[in-house]
Amino acid sequence: MSGTDNSIQISNTQSARVGEQRLTDAAMPMVNERLSALPRNERDAMIEQCETVELSIGDILAEPGRPVSHVYFPAGAIVSLLATVDDDTTLEVGIVGTDGMLGVSLALGVDAATLRAVVRASGTALRMDAQNFRRCLANSEVMRTDLNHYTCVLLTQLAQTAVCTRFHLVEARLARWLLMIHDRSPDDHLELTHGLLAEMLGVRRSGITTAAGILRQNKVIKYTRGDITIIDRAALEQASCECYRVVAETAAQLLPPTDSGA
Ligand SMILES: [Zn+2]
Repeated sequence: MSGTDNSIQISNTQSARVGEQRLTDAAMPMVNERLSALPRNERDAMIEQCETVELSIGDILAEPGRPVSHVYFPAGAIVSLLATVDDDTTLEVGIVGTDGMLGVSLALGVDAATLRAVVRASGTALRMDAQNFRRCLANSEVMRTDLNHYTCVLLTQLAQTAVCTRFHLVEARLARWLLMIHDRSPDDHLELTHGLLAEMLGVRRSGITTAAGILRQNKVIKYTRGDITIIDRAALEQASCECYRVVAETAAQLLPPTDSGA
């Protein structure tokens, strides 16, 4: 067991987000909000049974139709949920970071994954095997309720992404996506190439270059190769379509605030 169990803590600093709260001090270890939503004794028991793993960009954690062997509580890593068109073509439909848990199908009684899950930002996660997770879930009404609510937020995110992909312009979609990643990142620096952004948003790379160029021109972001820095968060929210706010407000309504349990 690593030192994570002793270092899990929550920042008291709250950022001016529409609905989500995040750690703002990069030196502070990141916390998983689904674990921090549990009463202290249950959280400690959960963490006791988790192993700490370091996830790397490109790691595939789930494939549609395959059994879910583990659940993951990201504490720094960010995971994309991808709907697959064929072996080579995918569209990102959701993001799981410190706000969530990967493997919620188990909480619904479904043993197989329905989406591909790929690590998009390296970092730490706490991992628990499926059998232990089911046992913990059976013993915790708080966790069952919390994960039901989280699943509802995730469904909102999936539905809103469908709306976003169909109706909104690339620049607004890019802004929304950067906000979602920023909420789950320890600081303002995001390691993202234009190629990855294009893949995530299901658009051509040239479209990302144009959209990112507008954001840079307006001094909302700056970027060098593979490294985007958000320099004006409020302006990025202005540039985003309403999809970001819809999901953030749903999360704020259904999930407990993140500074409640340290
Ligand atoms: Zn949108």
